[in-house]
Amino acid sequence: MTARIIDGKALSKQLREGFKTRVGTLVAQGVTPGLAVILVGDNPASRVYVGNKVKACEECGVRSFHIALPGDTLESEVLATIARLNADPAVHGILIQLPLPPHIDGRKVLEAISVHKDVDGFHLYNVGGLVVGNTIFPPCTPYGVQLLLDTTGTDVAGKNVVVVGASNIVGKPMALMLLQREATVTICHAKTRDLAQHTILADILIVAAGKPGLIVPQMVKQGAIVIDVGINRLPDGKIVGDVDFEGVKEKASWITPVPGGVGPMTVTMLIENTLRSAERALRMRQTDDYQDWEAPVLKGH
Ligand code: NAP
Repeated sequence: MTARIIDGKALSKQLREGFKTRVGTLVAQGVTPGLAVILVGDNPASRVYVGNKVKACEECGVRSFHIALPGDTLESEVLATIARLNADPAVHGILIQLPLPPHIDGRKVLEAISVHKDVDGFHLYNVGGLVVGNTIFPPCTPYGVQLLLDTTGTDVAGKNVVVVGASNIVGKPMALMLLQREATVTICHAKTRDLAQHTILADILIVAAGKPGLIVPQMVKQGAIVIDVGINRLPDGKIVGDVDFEGVKEKASWITPVPGGVGPMTVTMLIENTLRSAERALRMRQTDDYQDWEAPVLKGH
């Protein structure tokens, strides 16, 4: 069996076309959606990621505010920048590019972003919302994976899903989102003993470990759906995922390539969340009704 390819680039393109219509509707009502991206320092990879996000905004008609701060910026200055963006009605989404320099407390900075503008979905309120199955902004990478899975026409309910990687931004939210869809979810991490014993049982295998070549064909069940979130740069400059694509595609029923799988979807879902935030802000303004949208815990933001 040779797997069918889950084409993240094509799905992203299709979704972004739809975004243009939504932006047009918002603009006609006097709202131009805006995303602020804060970069602290000059990490080359982060600069590329920020560049991609700004480009995607432009492509979809979303206004981008690119805030580049020097690497020695004080934590208090970063927090003051966030406070200013929280109060700015032209900004519907705020994203802080990670990782931050070591002298800045990342958790503190993420919690400072208004939950109404937390389009990355990393604020504790949004993370907690995933646990009870109701979040304002789902985190972009797992959200993108979920849509990619949907394109295969597979109902995840009752399926064995194995998520390799337990980070706060990919593995854990991914597992919670699929649990919400009634999958039977196993989460593996670096201390998992005998990884293959778990992965071989997966109907759906999602890999986000950041280890090239981690998943080889012997670890994959015949006919499994394999989603490779990993992005790794090899010494020769080639970008690969965590899965041995050539080998595993002979066993899987569906597989994502790297690049061209999950990567484009992450940025696309960031735009989706920004549009939803702008639509939400407009609806709040029009109806003056916060009930659908805001739980008491949000007061003060
Ligand atoms: P991370 O914070 O480094 O987390 C990696 C996770 O993988 C950890 O939970 C770690 O376990 C686990 N792990 C490491 N080695 C393992 C092994 N040998 N077996 C099983 N589990 C192992 O990384 P991340 O931010 O989640 O990102 C993971 C990968 O996805 C990276 O390659 C990253 O570049 C990529 N990524 C891609 C996108 C995209 O848009 N496509 C978005 C985000 C991230 P412990 O918790 O025990 O340390």
